[in-house]
Amino acid sequence: MKSEELFQIAKKFLPGGVDSPVRSYKPYPFFAERSEGPYIYDVDKNNYIDYCLAYGPLVLGHTHPDVMESVKEQLKLGSAFGVPTEKEIELAKLVVNKIPCAEMVRFVNSGTEATMSAIRLARAYTGRKKIVKFEGSYHGAHDYVLVKSGSGAMGLPDSLGVPEETTRNTLVIPYNSKEAVESLIEKQSQEIAAIIIEPVMGNVGCIPPREGYLKFLREVTAEHDIVLIFDEVITGFRVAEGGAQEYYNVTPDLVTLGKILGGGFPIGALTGKKELMEMLTPLGGVYQAGTFNGNPISITAGLTTLKLLNHSFYKKLNHKGDYMRSGISDILEDNNLEFKIAGLSSMFQLYFTDKDVWNYMDAKSSDTKMFDQYFHNLLKEGVFIPPSQFECCFISLMHEKSELDTTLEAMKQSIKRI
Ligand SMILES: *Cc1c(COP(=O)(O)O)cnc(C)c1O
Repeated sequence: MKSEELFQIAKKFLPGGVDSPVRSYKPYPFFAERSEGPYIYDVDKNNYIDYCLAYGPLVLGHTHPDVMESVKEQLKLGSAFGVPTEKEIELAKLVVNKIPCAEMVRFVNSGTEATMSAIRLARAYTGRKKIVKFEGSYHGAHDYVLVKSGSGAMGLPDSLGVPEETTRNTLVIPYNSKEAVESLIEKQSQEIAAIIIEPVMGNVGCIPPREGYLKFLREVTAEHDIVLIFDEVITGFRVAEGGAQEYYNVTPDLVTLGKILGGGFPIGALTGKKELMEMLTPLGGVYQAGTFNGNPISITAGLTTLKLLNHSFYKKLNHKGDYMRSGISDILEDNNLEFKIAGLSSMFQLYFTDKDVWNYMDAKSSDTKMFDQYFHNLLKEGVFIPPSQFECCFISLMHEKSELDTTLEAMKQSIKRI
């Protein structure tokens, strides 16, 4: 059956025909049949070079043989136990060794659960209620963080069904602004439990921190006993072995992980200073639990994946990112276009704006209609990127130079045809 027909049926059984809103685009999304390496194949017999990579997890590419093999072996032993396993210790040890601020780990099932628990933990630790997040940052789909605008005012929810009372303690400020942080802290430092930040914003395209911004946050939070939470669900094991905290040499108090950590299977994790982590149940009084926490399949896939990540891996991967970004820059230059190519390491995004992009409002100045044409043109050329201007493209180990060159040619054609 073809994607178009499947989508008609899907709409009867799944709201909007999809299980997560970003997957929906017009006229209908392609339905996946299988994937391998840098490619995803649809039921209509098309294949695409994939830069969505399941929204970030597949740093080794699709169906990496080592990951698949280790999962098959684990499947023979069991898929869920509800009791501890040795592999959880092994993965926790790897996380602690790789991530600078990690001293203990709690495995959960998604990034959403990780940020929810991190915020609860920070509130318990400080005895304060308010949290600060940045405009346009995404920390999962739970109530505390579904707030975008309001420039430091009381948070108003982004979604129906979230009571104002729930987000009243969520303060939202523009990313990369020191003044916004300073003025909030000046007024209410004694009420702020945590600042939660994507060290590189990956959910409004790709926006890096301004030089010194993360260090500045580290200093002010330390000074006022505010917990600094890095949400590294995307950047963890993506921009460096130790994540953005290694890349920028700034150590937060708590870190949330997910995506790559599960090697293509569902996972999340909360990690950080022992002093905080020891407050989690059953040791401390901060409740955290989950039927599938530390699921052996996800843990196994994560373990196999993390073992393959080292300094030389990132050198190679980052080189591919540089190659793509400079290739896209050349296309823009050749066509006298002022659009902005953003990103670092193996992350990139093309913004259809002539403004420099340093925060959410800048990103919002992009021409999303133009992006939409670019996306559909690329699809016709056999390249799949996330269908939104406000997502980020990823490169995997399996993307070879030949695929990158094919992609750059497709981008050239796609941009010309807009
Ligand atoms: C994807 C993402 C989340 C949510 O993770 P899920 O596993 O989808 O719940 C949280 N924070 C960031 C930065 C993310 O990119």
